Amino acid sequence: MATDLLPDDLLDRIRSRAADYDRANAFFTEDLAELAESGYLRAMVPTELGGAGLTLEQMTREQMRLAGAAPATALAVNMHHVWVSVARTVRARGDGSCDFILEEAAAGEVFAFGVSEAGNDLVLFGSGSDAVPDGAGGYSFHGTKIFTSLSPAWTRLGTFGTDSSGDDGPHNVWGFVPRDGGGVEVRDDWDAMGMRASQSCTTVLTGAHAPAERIVRRIPPGPTMDPFIFGIFASFEILLASVYTGIAQRAIDVAVRTVRTRRSRANDGAPYANDPAIRWRLADAAIQLDGVYPQIAQIARDVDDQVDRGPLWLPQLSAVKVRATEVAKDVVEKAVRVSGGSSYVNRAELSRLYRDVLAGIFHPSDDESVHGAWANAMLGPVVDWPPAED
Ligand SMILES: Cc1cc2nc3c(=O)[nH]c(=O)nc-3n(C[C@H](O)[C@H](O)[C@H](O)COP(=O)(O)OP(=O)(O)OC[C@H]3O[C@@H](n4cnc5c(N)ncnc54)[C@H](O)[C@@H]3O)c2cc1C
Repeated sequence: MATDLLPDDLLDRIRSRAADYDRANAFFTEDLAELAESGYLRAMVPTELGGAGLTLEQMTREQMRLAGAAPATALAVNMHHVWVSVARTVRARGDGSCDFILEEAAAGEVFAFGVSEAGNDLVLFGSGSDAVPDGAGGYSFHGTKIFTSLSPAWTRLGTFGTDSSGDDGPHNVWGFVPRDGGGVEVRDDWDAMGMRASQSCTTVLTGAHAPAERIVRRIPPGPTMDPFIFGIFASFEILLASVYTGIAQRAIDVAVRTVRTRRSRANDGAPYANDPAIRWRLADAAIQLDGVYPQIAQIARDVDDQVDRGPLWLPQLSAVKVRATEVAKDVVEKAVRVSGGSSYVNRAELSRLYRDVLAGIFHPSDDESVHGAWANAMLGPVVDWPPAED
C-alpha cells in the first residue's frame, strides 16, 4: 500500500536506478536525496519532535516495500532507521538520553551504524576498539569498524569501544561521533558480490570524539537487557528481517510475471504457469514467506507495546532475523529456479536479488549464535562431562 513517505512513483524511480547502481558499484545518492526529501529519514521520529511518528511495526512494512524496489538502498537506510528506532524505544521507556538522535534525524542528519569489527563475534557485547575518556565525560574512539553502510553519506556514526581506564574494570562505551569532527577515515574499499549500492566501507576511528552529551552508555561487557542495548537488538533484528522479506516478496512477484510469459514447447506453447511442478514450487515459496509476515508484525508490536517476553526476548529476536533471512534466501532461489536460465544473466533483476539476498546470512545474529542461544534457553549450558571427581 502506498504511503505519503514512500509513494509509488518514488518507489518506481528508486527501482529504476537499482540496476545501474549495482553495475557501477555506486552509492544510491539520488535515492537518498529523494528519501530525505519525502521525509522517509524522519519516519520513526515522534510527531512532537518533527517526524512522522511511525511505530516499529509500521516501519517494518515501509522497509519491506523499499527493499522490494532496491535492496541495497533499503539495507543501508535501515541502519539510520535502527538508530532512530533505538532512540524511540529508549524514550518510550522514560529515558531521554537518546533524544538528540531524534532531534538530529528530524533536522536532516544521517546516522550510520559503526559496530562490526573484523573477527568480533561478541557483536554488541564487547569491542576491540578503545574508548579513551577525555576527563569531562566524553570519549575518543580508536579502532577499525567494518561494513559501515551509508559510508559516502553519513553525518553521524553510532559506535562503541572499550574503556579500560577505570579501576572498575573494562566497560563498553557507546557514543555518537560527527563525521566532520575529525578522527574518522572512511576507506573507499567496498566491492562486494551483492548489496553493492550500500557502500558498506571500512571506517577507521583515530580519535573521533563524542562529548559527554553524546555518550549514551557506559556499561559492563556481556549480555544485558539495558533498554539501549535491547533497543539495538530489537530494532536491528526486526528491521533487517523486514528488508530481506521485501526482497523475497519481490522475487516472487518477478517470478510470477516470468512464468506467465515463459512458454513450454513440450506443452504446445502453454505458459510455464500451467506446469504443475512450477506451480507447486512457486506456491511453496509463497507459503514459506507467508509465515514470516505475522512473526515480524507480532514481535514488532510487542516491542512497541513494551510486552515482557522474559528470558526468551533476545533468542526470539535473533530467531525472527534468522528465519526471515533464511526463508528469503530459499524463496529467491525458488524464484530463480522457476524462472529458468534467463534469470542467470547479469541484467536480470532476479540475478541481482539472488546476490543481494545472500548478505542476510552474514548479519548478526548468525545461524550459529541463534542456535546456541535457543539451545542454552532450553537445555542450559553444556555440563562438564565426565563430572570432576571431588
Ligand atoms: C551488506 C552488508 C552491510 C552491512 N552493514 C553494516 C553496518 O552498516 N554496520 C555494521 O556495524 N555492520 C554491518 N554489516 C556487518 C555484518 O553485520 C557482520 O558483522 C559482518 O558481515 C561480519 O560478519 P562475520 O563475523 O561473518 O565476518 P568476519 O569473519 O569477522 O569477517 C569480516 C572481515 O574481517 C576479517 N577477519 C575475520 N577474522 C579476523 C581476525 N581474527 N583478524 C583480522 N581480520 C579478521 C575477514 O577477513 C573479513 O574481511 C554489514 C554486512 C553486510 C554483508
